[in-house]
Amino acid sequence: MKVCVIGAGVIGCATAYELARQGQEVHLLDAEQAPGLGTSYANGAQLSYSYVEPFASPATLRGLPKMLFSSGSAVRFQPRWDWRQWAWGLQFLRACSAKQSLQGTAQLLEMARSSRATLARWMAEEAWSFDFEENGKLVLCPSLESLRLQERQVALQAAMGCQQEVLGPRECLEKEPALQFAPAMKWAGGVWTSDECIGDPHRLCVDLVASIRSRGGSVSMGVQARTFVRHGGRVSAVVTDQGEITADAFVLATGPRVVSLAAQLGIYLPIYPIKGYSITVPFRVGALKPRASVTDLGRKTVFAPLGTNLRVAAMAEVGASGLDVPADRVNTMVAAVAQTFPGLCDLDAPTVWAGLRPATPTSVPVVGRWRESNVFLNVGHGALGFTLAAGSATSIAHSILEYPTIKMTGNIRRAAEDASVPGAIEAADMPVSPSSSSRIQ
Ligand SMILES: Cc1cc2nc3c(=O)[nH]c(=O)nc-3n(C[C@H](O)[C@H](O)[C@H](O)COP(=O)(O)OP(=O)(O)OC[C@H]3O[C@@H](n4cnc5c(N)ncnc54)[C@H](O)[C@@H]3O)c2cc1C
Repeated sequence: MKVCVIGAGVIGCATAYELARQGQEVHLLDAEQAPGLGTSYANGAQLSYSYVEPFASPATLRGLPKMLFSSGSAVRFQPRWDWRQWAWGLQFLRACSAKQSLQGTAQLLEMARSSRATLARWMAEEAWSFDFEENGKLVLCPSLESLRLQERQVALQAAMGCQQEVLGPRECLEKEPALQFAPAMKWAGGVWTSDECIGDPHRLCVDLVASIRSRGGSVSMGVQARTFVRHGGRVSAVVTDQGEITADAFVLATGPRVVSLAAQLGIYLPIYPIKGYSITVPFRVGALKPRASVTDLGRKTVFAPLGTNLRVAAMAEVGASGLDVPADRVNTMVAAVAQTFPGLCDLDAPTVWAGLRPATPTSVPVVGRWRESNVFLNVGHGALGFTLAAGSATSIAHSILEYPTIKMTGNIRRAAEDASVPGAIEAADMPVSPSSSSRIQ
């Protein structure tokens, strides 16, 4: 079967790789000149298998006024004349219930479990070098209140199979000795997860593309998908700025830009971009580097040691347009490094970056077949795309490989039934835009 995967971020690259690995003919394309230059480029580098709690939760709802209206907050909301923003916001507020948050946590943990196992399988077969390390993660809580909330989440996740330890301040220091130089830092305690991992997401994309090519797959960079050629309920080709590409099945993996492309097919996706930032700074020679990745919950900032550099990622802005990186955002992250790890890094010329998290209101991505068509969606991974990429790829590959059988037998099943990962939002249940609901059967 020939499958065309649109979008070569970490989600599209992983999808195309899994399909090529399973002997399918794949064609991966991207508008950029190289893979992984979108949101997958310089994110927080966390393979955060046990920290998947949806952003929408009762605690977020309680803290929302403070988060949104205090100056210097890591979370910002810029209202826009954009119905999508308001529709997404209302769905987000609805998703802040304890029930939805619990359900989302369970779904995301299941996807994360599948991702961890899949990535391990891939790495055993390939010689990739994307700075992968299983170095553990320490989450620092600024107050007793936040520590109590974390304790509750740890207990809840323990029942779902996660192994995490709640630590006092001194124990935090034992886990990560590089924190000892931060006298000004105060924390009430923390949570330690020994089997959390890190890696460079951009380098993983590059590795995946090399492996796709070595398995006979085609990769076209600098090719932008614009619309589709449809016959009844099926898509026969994607129309790009460089001509049509035919295939038996199509996967939309265009991250935060999926909404307009999906609209060409009459698919409405509740995905909204949430902007975030990172800086990458080199370690000073002879400095005591952190062993683990560290998250400061007070600052909502993650610090990941990536080879010879420290990657620092932070902030969530709903409604920010463009990919500019304002100086105050950089200064905040530079100050966070200086205060958390004094003297560790050369902070004179940080490499700065901004990206757009493709977020659903529930934080659960959309992975599955669109209704009864040959279009598949692998989008909406929000703050967890790097973590969930491998599991989502196997899930969508499973759906696609079942598709010819389904087509032949006429036994058309829903996307969520097709998906091997139970966490996926049911693509079949996503609403369609009223004007075009009949385009895809
Ligand atoms: C600050 C920040 C920190 C983060 N930290 C982490 C982290 O630590 N761990 C984690 O798991 N996740 C993290 N994330 C989230 C993660 O980066 C994303 O979920 C993930 O990169 C999304 O991948 P994607 O492939 O869906 O999108 P992208 O990487 O954006 O890829 C989509 C691709 O589609 C292409 N494209 C779009 N439209 C078209 C078109 N019409 N035709 C052709 N090509 C097209 C784009 O060029 C792009 O290459 C973070 C995000 C941010 C912003």
